[in-house]
Amino acid sequence: MAKIVRTRAAQKARALEVYDRLRKAYPDARCSLDFTNPLELLVATILAAQCTDERVNMVTKSLFQRYPDAASYVRAPQEELEEAIRACGFYRNKAKNIRNACAALVERFGGRVPETMEELLTLDGVGRKTANVLLCECAGTPAIVVDTHCGRLARRLGFTKARDPDKIEQDLMKLLPSDKWRMFSHSLVFHGRAICHARGPKCSQCPVADLCPFPDTQEGKRIAK
Ligand code: SF4
Repeated sequence: MAKIVRTRAAQKARALEVYDRLRKAYPDARCSLDFTNPLELLVATILAAQCTDERVNMVTKSLFQRYPDAASYVRAPQEELEEAIRACGFYRNKAKNIRNACAALVERFGGRVPETMEELLTLDGVGRKTANVLLCECAGTPAIVVDTHCGRLARRLGFTKARDPDKIEQDLMKLLPSDKWRMFSHSLVFHGRAICHARGPKCSQCPVADLCPFPDTQEGKRIAK
């Protein structure tokens, strides 16, 4: 049974140990979206809402060749862009957001993706999660990206009680030094995909099981494999 001490210092030490073990377990953890520049990542992240990264990568392979810069998305007729991204779902809204965001890039940022949270949040389709992806992957600014896996694991590991991604982000930021934020969220996502599944976490195969309170909770006993 994992005995969890919840003082701030103990939580920080446990978070660091979880970080170290997950980094060893998933040395290749990284952003799963394919991109070669900030604009491509911006578009891919907008497309990734309610869609798998694998599907987004299939769509963006040709999309990025067809629309190489922000101006080319703005020039594209809405229907043409919708058709090009249809496989990602919610394609009408996503096409609108991409075109509006790209129009803002052209009008206000010289066609480039800005590098501050404040500026990124002014773009259509960009919330804190997308902004954090861009900040830590492209701007070299430390950030924690809270997706569904990251949020679920942070709760199971007892690092937050929150369901709101912004609050989870704040809770995790307090536990680890900023140079570990980016890879902590990537490692949690990889662990969520490989072992700590939503419906049936494989706790018996988990490298951080002795650091995790979840298997001893009622829900954990009910669903763990
Ligand atoms: S022990 Fe189970 S619930 Fe905890 S992180 Fe590992 S797989 Fe997830």
